[in-house]
Amino acid sequence: MADANATEIGAAEFLKQLKKTFENLPNDIPIFLFTKPGGDDIFTQSSRQVIRAFREITDKIIFREYDLNHNYAKKWNVDRAPTMLIDPERYHIRWLGAPMGEEGRTLLETLLLVGMGNSRLNEQAIKVLKKIDSPRQVRVFVSPSCPYCPQEAVNAIKAAIEMPEFVSVELVDIQCNPDIAEKYSAQSVPQTYANDILIGQGARSEEIFSLSLQKLEPVTLFIPDNDAELVETDLVIVGGGPAGLSAGIYAQRSGLNAAVVEKGALGGQVATTPVVENYPGFTQVGGKALVDIMVSHALEYVPIFQGEEVLSVGKGNPLTVKTSRRMFHTKAVLLATGAQHKFLNVPGEKRLSGSGVSYCATCDGPLFSGKNVIIVGGGNSAVTEALHLRNMGVLVTLVHRRDALRAQEYLGKILENSNIPTLWNTEVKEIRGKKRVESVLLENNKTHETTEMNLQGVFVSIGYEPSVALAEKAGVTLTEQGYTERTSPVFIRRAMWKAATSRL
Ligand code: NAP
Repeated sequence: MADANATEIGAAEFLKQLKKTFENLPNDIPIFLFTKPGGDDIFTQSSRQVIRAFREITDKIIFREYDLNHNYAKKWNVDRAPTMLIDPERYHIRWLGAPMGEEGRTLLETLLLVGMGNSRLNEQAIKVLKKIDSPRQVRVFVSPSCPYCPQEAVNAIKAAIEMPEFVSVELVDIQCNPDIAEKYSAQSVPQTYANDILIGQGARSEEIFSLSLQKLEPVTLFIPDNDAELVETDLVIVGGGPAGLSAGIYAQRSGLNAAVVEKGALGGQVATTPVVENYPGFTQVGGKALVDIMVSHALEYVPIFQGEEVLSVGKGNPLTVKTSRRMFHTKAVLLATGAQHKFLNVPGEKRLSGSGVSYCATCDGPLFSGKNVIIVGGGNSAVTEALHLRNMGVLVTLVHRRDALRAQEYLGKILENSNIPTLWNTEVKEIRGKKRVESVLLENNKTHETTEMNLQGVFVSIGYEPSVALAEKAGVTLTEQGYTERTSPVFIRRAMWKAATSRL
């Protein structure tokens, strides 16, 4: 009961602050919603509801609704519903679909930025964007269940606000617009095209997004100018997953001036776990909901630099941590870089990634409703995700290389009762398809019999490998399995110890 009250007070306080923030915005925010003549679908109804909910918070929103026969539809080339245009006299921001689920965050940020009339992009990203001298039509494929999508979508919105003369943005909800997704073979989100060229998959930093938009090609590395901002701290925590966030809370409470730096979405792997049932205190909680609670808690104590990549950790006293946006001088660095998903490393996997090969059932699962897919793996993740896919109406088969699950017995029993077909002792040898996944070649590793299975999707859930690139660069000894060696004293650990003991 006390918890419920605390949550209500938190929500009421948030709403109060949000109202105040909107009140202080210098600009009105016109929203034009285009609907089908003669009847609404669920996406149109949801769009209208969301916009009305925002209008209850602020009178800055000027809401107009027209059907597709209206002159405004012709004026702005709108030919499908629902389509939302946000301040179309000033910017080229178009939303195809409804801002539901995670996309509500994108809409909120968009409204605030348009109301401010300011992109709030960081300086490095603006410098890159300013080199653009010809039109860029950006199309970002998103979905309401994808926690990574808002980051990439907001990058695009910011670019449209910063450079309205050149950049136009269309956010495409692929559940509402499967035909457009089909045309681009976009079966994972977020996926970003500019002038019909694929410039990125996944959530990226503002700088990387801007550079790929400027160059019209996928870019993975951004080196900042030398005049990047300098920040002094006692401790830089690299990684904003549960470990990094906890470290931030503990460090700050212990009197250290700490900062958390995270290049992608906050919360790590848990953010995309459909349901968590074994975190003490929660009988059942969505992974993203749990992460949101952790992030709010951490933000009470420690600054979080999100969407910023740590490029190097240099020796010396103080240590130098270079990110894509600034430089930290710090007494210690704590690497909480977690892990990244493993690849099958079979022919066709890389080529068809995003076109039927997926590593995130939470993000991409809804796109495969009614379609045949396999999920590969036998651990807790594969079983949890198989159940999640089945609940979304996906026709899923579990493919595991052994004859017994690695997953907890509890989950194994649920799988058994779910009637999800399971292929034991089976390995994926090849993923086939021209533009998108059409079949897989499977081999029974006992009989060596091979079969081709026709399907539309392959979900890979075969575990994680540690993200140790920074640790390696910093000279940390690794174990044979690629984990950091706990007993090897390295300069980071020494410096950390010094920082901690000098303050406590
Ligand atoms: P995991 O436990 O390492 O399991 C990976 C699975 O993929 C294993 O069954 C493994 O087969 C299989 N595999 C590995 N490489 C493969 C390859 N190249 N080809 C085919 N199959 C391959 O990974 P996870 O399920 O992602 O879990 C990671 C960690 O998170 C674990 O500690 C897990 O307990 C935890 N987790 C917990 C929960 C929960 O508590 N609810 C939920 C999700 C994850 P073998 O069995 O033959 O090795």
